[in-house]
Amino acid sequence: MDPYTIFADIIAGRAPASKVYEDDDVVAFMDIRPMTPGHLLVVPRVAAKCLAELDPVVGGKLFQVGQRLAGALRESEVGCDGVNFFLADGVTAGQEVFHVHLHVIPRTPGDGFGLRGRPTSPHRADLDYLAGSIRGALARTEAAEGR
Ligand code: AMP
Repeated sequence: MDPYTIFADIIAGRAPASKVYEDDDVVAFMDIRPMTPGHLLVVPRVAAKCLAELDPVVGGKLFQVGQRLAGALRESEVGCDGVNFFLADGVTAGQEVFHVHLHVIPRTPGDGFGLRGRPTSPHRADLDYLAGSIRGALARTEAAEGR
């Protein structure tokens, strides 16, 4: 996959962006196709294509900055009274730009934004079965990483 993304150019200052925040690890700027007014992207400076490539410390930083920006959005002229975080990891999840980023989406009543999909009502046994499978995968991954 081509490692180039427009976000690399924005981070390097070669492409325009309406920035709201930057530090040594992350840059945050306005999404050019906002789902709602004030829609922000928080982007790590390091060009990780997906969550599996992202240093978890930097991943935590994405959330920390997103949390601060959510507060700022509520206090700004955006005037939202709710915020959604969204992160698409992989094509199937809707990822279009292959440089990890956290969407911070301000919400107001009736803005039309929402997750599509229908919740299901599985039996507890099915939830327990998958929980066991995920616990096993987590343990194997962490053992392989020496954690
Ligand atoms: P995703 O589907 O999670 O990969 O979302 C990519 C997001 O990047 C979309 O919401 C786009 O509108 C946004 N985007 C793409 N190019 C730019 C750009 N040059 N400046 C700001 N946002 C962008």
